[in-house]
Amino acid sequence: MTGPSAEDKMQFLFALRSKGVTDRRVLNAMEDIDRGPFVRGVFAGRAYEDTPLPIACGQTISQPSVVGVMTQALDLSGRDKVLEIGTGSGYQAAVLSRLARRVYTVDRHRRLVREAGEIFAAMGLSNITTMVGDGSHGVPEQAPFDRILVTAAAEDPPGPLLAQLKIGGIMVVPVGQSDAVQQLIRVRRTETGFDYDELRPVRFVPLLEGLGQDS
Ligand code: SAH
Repeated sequence: MTGPSAEDKMQFLFALRSKGVTDRRVLNAMEDIDRGPFVRGVFAGRAYEDTPLPIACGQTISQPSVVGVMTQALDLSGRDKVLEIGTGSGYQAAVLSRLARRVYTVDRHRRLVREAGEIFAAMGLSNITTMVGDGSHGVPEQAPFDRILVTAAAEDPPGPLLAQLKIGGIMVVPVGQSDAVQQLIRVRRTETGFDYDELRPVRFVPLLEGLGQDS
């Protein structure tokens, strides 16, 4: 594996900054985590472009600037226990792992979870726990979480996930009809309820029920 050239790296970071990723810690984490290993096959040569790309099981690895914006919106402290729903390629979880204490990441496709786990091990990212399951139920045995990131589009923020968020915690989730443009929203849990704000329009694959056919 060769990794990005100096030119690739410069363009990658430029694209992130120009699309609003300004948090130094997030930029550093994304500079550290090579996106190359998370993109396999025919699209591997495009890993450093700011574009979503197809991965196995008919899913997509998110656009890097969207990964950056979502990570930034979580406002991680380095001490957080984070839940990610939608492991996909594993790239987002790898970026989170540099900024959090522990990351739990769940996908409904066993193959994606296995392949992501292999990359985490090869990269020495030892604070990520991978799980196969329907993430819309959350992970009750590890709850509550300081931060929750959903990387698939839900019609509404799933109730079990809201319930598994700590008071003072933040959840970021794309909300809207699955085949349209969704709104990325940030939910903060307060002592008395939930505050919502809209971040920007995004396009994600839908959050589906149950396990994938390979699982
Ligand atoms: N975060 C990923 C991109 C996610 S693509 C990355 O960095 O590459 C969305 C993922 O959500 C897909 O892999 C899909 O299988 C998964 N997904 C959809 N519905 C789900 C559910 N109910 N539970 C867990 N994973 C789900």
